[in-house]
Amino acid sequence: MHPLVDTHCHLDVDEFDRDRDEVIARAREAGVTRQIVPAIDAATWPKLRDVCAKDDGLYAAYGLHPLLLDRHRDAHLDELRDWVERERPVAIGECGLDYFVEGLDPERQQHFFDGQLKIAREFDLPVVVHARRAVDAVIASIRRIGGLRGVVHSFSGSQEQAQQLWKQGFLLGLGGPVTYERANRLRKLAASMPLEFLVLETDAPDQPDADNRGQRNEPAHMTRVLHTIADLRGVDPDEVARATTANAERLFGLA
Ligand SMILES: [Zn+2]
Repeated sequence: MHPLVDTHCHLDVDEFDRDRDEVIARAREAGVTRQIVPAIDAATWPKLRDVCAKDDGLYAAYGLHPLLLDRHRDAHLDELRDWVERERPVAIGECGLDYFVEGLDPERQQHFFDGQLKIAREFDLPVVVHARRAVDAVIASIRRIGGLRGVVHSFSGSQEQAQQLWKQGFLLGLGGPVTYERANRLRKLAASMPLEFLVLETDAPDQPDADNRGQRNEPAHMTRVLHTIADLRGVDPDEVARATTANAERLFGLA
């Protein structure tokens, strides 16, 4: 099997502190040889950097996740810019908009999202975007700022929204949710979308696949996502593996 890239994996979080090396080893054995590790808030950037520095296959992205809005301060955008200039990550993120969880002020979310999109444009880096019940607002933001590229991770929008994102130079990340049989709209999209716009992810430790429901997710489980998408498309998994790995390499500038 062609080696895979998990384009969204929170390997730095505490849930992996007790067995991170084993988790990475299991991923490598399963053929998931590289991970993009997106940040969630400023306080976690130093640990994330240290975790990624220990393994050649881990690539850091730095950003401010919309769900952790309470922890973000205006100064963090300036700190992010300085941090990115110094550390030269492969992407900005995780950033975006979440209109599903209550109590997250949309205007304040937009403030941090726009700020991060501008940093991505300035440094010519891709963005790793979280968009829950907010895909239209994300598309509008991307259009308004302009000159961007990236991935909308764990995409859950419509076919039409997908097409608008492709036109803006964005890829879609698919993970565990596509393995659930009731995910009709998502499975239809996975079966029919052009492979050139697809990357695979786990979002570990979150979003486990249908075989690991209720458990901590980990990057080795991405093979289940690969096989589901290959089955839905009626093609050999290796074809999906080659295309999605090439897409990830191109988007994140991996060697
Ligand atoms: Zn995430």
